[in-house]
Amino acid sequence: MARTLREVAAIPTGDLPRVSGKLLERLDIMGLRSVLDVLQHYPRRYHDRTKKADIADLAPGDEATIFAEVKRISSRRTRNGRSLVEASVFDGTSYLPITFFNQAWREKQLAVGTEAAFFGKLEIFNGARKMTNPVVDVVDHLGDKTGVIVPIYPQSGKADVSTWQLRPVVAAVLDAAGPLAEPLDAGIRRELKLVDRTAAYRRVHQPDDDAQRYQAERRLRFDEFLRMQVGLVARKRALAASPGIRHVVDGELVARFHAALPFALTGDQRRAIAEIDADLAAPAPMHRLLQGDVGSGKTVVALSALLVAVQGGYQGALMAPTEVLAEQHHLGSVRMLDGLEVPAGESSLFGERPVRVALLTNKTTAAERRRISAGLLDGSIDILIGTHALLYGGVEFHRLGVVVIDEQHRFGVEQRALLRAKGDDPDLLVMTATPIPRTAGMLIYGDLDKSELRELPPGRTPITTELVGPDPMARSRAYDLLKAEVAAGHQAYIVCPLVEGSEKTQAKAATEEFEDLGGGELHDLRLGLLHGQMAGKDKEAVMAAFRAGTIDVLVATTVIEVGVDVPNATVMIIEDADHFGLSQLHQLRGRVGRGGDRSWCFLFAEPTTPDGQARVDAMVESTDGFHLAEQDLAIRGAGEVFGERQAGMGDLKLGKIPRDEKYVLAARKTAEQILDADPLLERNPALREEVEDLLGDSVDFLFKS
Ligand code: ADP
Ligand code: MG
Repeated sequence: MARTLREVAAIPTGDLPRVSGKLLERLDIMGLRSVLDVLQHYPRRYHDRTKKADIADLAPGDEATIFAEVKRISSRRTRNGRSLVEASVFDGTSYLPITFFNQAWREKQLAVGTEAAFFGKLEIFNGARKMTNPVVDVVDHLGDKTGVIVPIYPQSGKADVSTWQLRPVVAAVLDAAGPLAEPLDAGIRRELKLVDRTAAYRRVHQPDDDAQRYQAERRLRFDEFLRMQVGLVARKRALAASPGIRHVVDGELVARFHAALPFALTGDQRRAIAEIDADLAAPAPMHRLLQGDVGSGKTVVALSALLVAVQGGYQGALMAPTEVLAEQHHLGSVRMLDGLEVPAGESSLFGERPVRVALLTNKTTAAERRRISAGLLDGSIDILIGTHALLYGGVEFHRLGVVVIDEQHRFGVEQRALLRAKGDDPDLLVMTATPIPRTAGMLIYGDLDKSELRELPPGRTPITTELVGPDPMARSRAYDLLKAEVAAGHQAYIVCPLVEGSEKTQAKAATEEFEDLGGGELHDLRLGLLHGQMAGKDKEAVMAAFRAGTIDVLVATTVIEVGVDVPNATVMIIEDADHFGLSQLHQLRGRVGRGGDRSWCFLFAEPTTPDGQARVDAMVESTDGFHLAEQDLAIRGAGEVFGERQAGMGDLKLGKIPRDEKYVLAARKTAEQILDADPLLERNPALREEVEDLLGDSVDFLFKS
C-alpha cells in the first residue's frame, strides 16, 4: 500500500537501518526526526559534475566549479591580525592553491583528504594561479555511486551533519518511505505536466540530470501551494454554506449616518459599502477583506457596516492591534457618530437615543470594565471598540452581529475565530492598510472576498519625499522647512531611529533625541515625546495635546505608525530611515498628507546595505502603497513580510512568493476542481490529511459533515 505523508511522518528516523546513534542525535537537533522530515529536507543547491572544470584548463578570470581533494592545509595570522587559511587542492589534472581570509574554521572543515566542490574565480597572484574565498561544498566520498548531479544540503549551525553524511540517510529514507499515496489523479497531472509524487521525492534528492531535478521541484512546489489553497477554498465554501444573520441593510439609522457625513463618499467607498451590504443582507455570514491604502477612508466603511448591525438590533465590535489605534478608532467613531440617533422602532424600547460606543483596552479600569460588561449583556452598548482585550476576560455580547478587525495581519487566524465565536455566526469584515499583492493575497486572504479602496478622498496633495544624506547642510534645510511649516500653523513628526534591544532602550533613545532637539535645533518649538514605555494616560495626554495643536512637533517611536490621524501635520522626518521596513516607512509617511495641505517626508539615511538603499529609493520614487508592497515582497520575500503566524506560510519550503505566482493560480484552480468533485475530500484521504495537518485546529469547522 502506498503511504500518505502523515504515515511517513509517523516513521521515526530511529527505525532506519544503518544510522548510528550519534548521527541520530545530530539529526534530531536539526529537527529531522521522521522519515517525512528528511524527505522534505531539500537540497539547497546542486552541483552538476558534467559542468565541472579541470584545474589545468582554467584561465585567469574564469569563474568555475572544480571538484578536488584537499592535499595540504594550514593557517596563520597576517600582520594585521586577520586569520589566513591556505590550502592546496588537487583534481587529477593539476594542483591549485586556495586562500581563505577570516575563515579560520576552514582548517577544520577541510581536513587533508576531504573532497569538495570549490566555486570561485581563478586569479594570478605573484605569477601563480590561485583562488581566494571560493564557495565551498564538501562532497566527500563521491565515489562512483552518486549521479552526475550532486545535491548539497543546507548546513545547520546547531548540528554538524555534512552533505555526505546525509546522503546515505536520505537513501535509507527513500527506501523506508516506499511508494507514496498520490493526491492528484492522472488527468490533472497530465494537464499540469506534473510528475508523480513518489518520483518527485526521489528525484529531488537523487536526480539523474538537471531536467529531473527541475521536474521534481515543480511537483513539490505545486503540492505546497495546493494544500494551502484546498484549505482556504474549503473554508470559504464551508462559511458560505453556514447559516448567518440576514441584516436589515436599508434602514433609517444608516441612512441618517450617510446623510450627516461632512463629505461625499468616494466611488470606491460607495462600491465597498454596496458589496458589504449585499453580504450583510445575505443569509450566509460575510467573510470579507477591505483593503485600502493609508488614508483611503476605511473607517467610514467600517462604521457603516457596524451601524447596519445596530439598526437591526444587533451589536458591532471593532478590534484593532494596538491601544493607540483602538483609541484613534474610538475617537474617530465618536466624532462621526456625534448627534446620530437610533430611530425609535421595534428594536428599541426607549424611543430615539444616541448610538452608544464603548472602548475596551487593557487600560480600562475594573469599574469601567464592569460597566461595559453589563452594557454589552443588556444591549445598551451598540458598538464596542478595543484591542485584544475584546477577546478575553469574559467579554460577552447580547447579540453580536458584525465584527470588524483592523490590520488583521497582526492577529493570528485563531484570534479572528475567537472574536467571531462571541456571536452566533456574525458577519466579519477584515481591514488592512498593508496592501497585499495579488499572489500573496491568495495565500493569506484566500478564504476572504475582497473589496478595495484604491482611490484616495479628493483634495489630497501628493507628499514630496526626499532622501537626506549625512550632509549637515541638507539636514538643516529639512529642519528649516519644518520650522517654516510650524510657523505657518502646521505640525510635524520626527520618528526616532530604531534601536536594537528592548522597548526600554528604544524609549531611552527617543528621550535623548527629544532632549537634543529641544535643547538645540528646535529649541524654540513646542515639542512632545511619545514612546511605548510611557504610561497610558501620559501617552493619551500627549496625543490629545498634539491633536489640539498645543504641541508643534511630536518626537516619537514607531508607536505612531498606525492610526494617528492629525490632518494638520504636514512634515514627517524619519531618522535612520534605511533601517525601517518598507511597509513601515509607508505607514509612517501616511501620518502626513491627510489634510488638504502640501506635505513633506524627509528620510534621513545613509544606507549601508543594498536592501536599505532599495527601500529608501522605492519610497522616494512612489507613494503608491500597492506598488511599494510589491517592492517590499521582492526585497524581502513572503515569509519575512507576512510572518510565520499566517497559517500555511511556514509550510513553504520550496515555494516562493511572488516568484511562484503561476503555481498559486494553478493550485487555486486545481483546489476548486478537486473540491467541486469531492467537497469533503472523502475520496482523497491523502490530501485531506495534508490539509488537516497544515491548518491544525483551525480546520475543525472546515470539514464538518
Ligand atoms: P484609513 O483608516 O483608511 O487610513 P481613515 O478612515 O482614517 O483612513 O480616513 C482618513 C481621513 O480621511 C479621515 O480624516 C477621514 O475623515 C477622511 N475621509 C474619509 N473619507 C473621505 C471622503 N470621502 N472625503 C473626504 N475625506 C474623507
Ligand atoms: Mg484607519
